[in-house]
Amino acid sequence: MGKKLGAASMSIAVNTALLISKIAAAFITGSIGLYAESAHSLFDLLASFLAYLGIRKAEEPEDRTHHFGHEKFENLSSMLQALLITGTASVVLFEAYQKFSEPGKVDFSEAGILLMLISIPVTYFTSRYLGDVAKKEGSSALEADSAHFTTDVVSSAAVLLGLIAVKLGFPQGDPLAAAVVGLVMLYISVELLLHSFFVFMDFSPDKETMAKIKGVLVAEKRITRFHKLRARIAGSRILVDAHIHLPHGMPVETAHTIAHEIETMILREVPQVKEVNIHIEPD
Ligand SMILES: [Zn+2]
Ligand SMILES: [Zn+2]
Ligand SMILES: [Zn+2]
Repeated sequence: MGKKLGAASMSIAVNTALLISKIAAAFITGSIGLYAESAHSLFDLLASFLAYLGIRKAEEPEDRTHHFGHEKFENLSSMLQALLITGTASVVLFEAYQKFSEPGKVDFSEAGILLMLISIPVTYFTSRYLGDVAKKEGSSALEADSAHFTTDVVSSAAVLLGLIAVKLGFPQGDPLAAAVVGLVMLYISVELLLHSFFVFMDFSPDKETMAKIKGVLVAEKRITRFHKLRARIAGSRILVDAHIHLPHGMPVETAHTIAHEIETMILREVPQVKEVNIHIEPD
């Protein structure tokens, strides 16, 4: 199993553990904040499972019906995740709104407080780990997952504060915390939707990445010039193509070697690049 899939599996395991303990705490306390967190964790689990499937499918090689590979399956899975999360967020926000005028009773809030005190650091360190793997291996799915865990810290902290508020005699703290959880979920789903939409519209990579790719061509002294440098994102990979100009009369063998060396240099410079297609023109 690759490092990326390993990290995705770990994310599933952590989300499962969080989900089970949050549901238990929600039942014990009757806190709507904890119920909201449970719904949130349920969809996080589903999301990390979808991310796992997306990464696995994206790693499949090209075949007869997908000549450019399967990378965009990763984005399709993000889009499905986003739609699911939007649905739950709406339910959570509606419930929080209804409970605000007459908050329910919260029992044994200590149990909920204790669970949140444990789950916040667990969530935080999972996010850090996923972020590290995402950076080293170049995976947008894991990067999204890591960013998600970071916002989960906000969500859990809101529930923690809500429970403390209830204990201090402010029963509205609980539905208020649930509302924060709902808003965090909405924020995540909008981000996911936008990102996958951009990829489906063949958006180019960010300026920094483009500058790195362009830098390789600018630094290459054997070519006289280049044009039509293009790049687009597919899943967590980048597809690049460019036209290079070579001195008139250069043997085809030499030109071909130079083209391949440029491809290799771009791949080394930007590890997310999946392939580079270079078109050769005489000067
Ligand atoms: Zn979440
Ligand atoms: Zn050209
Ligand atoms: Zn070749």
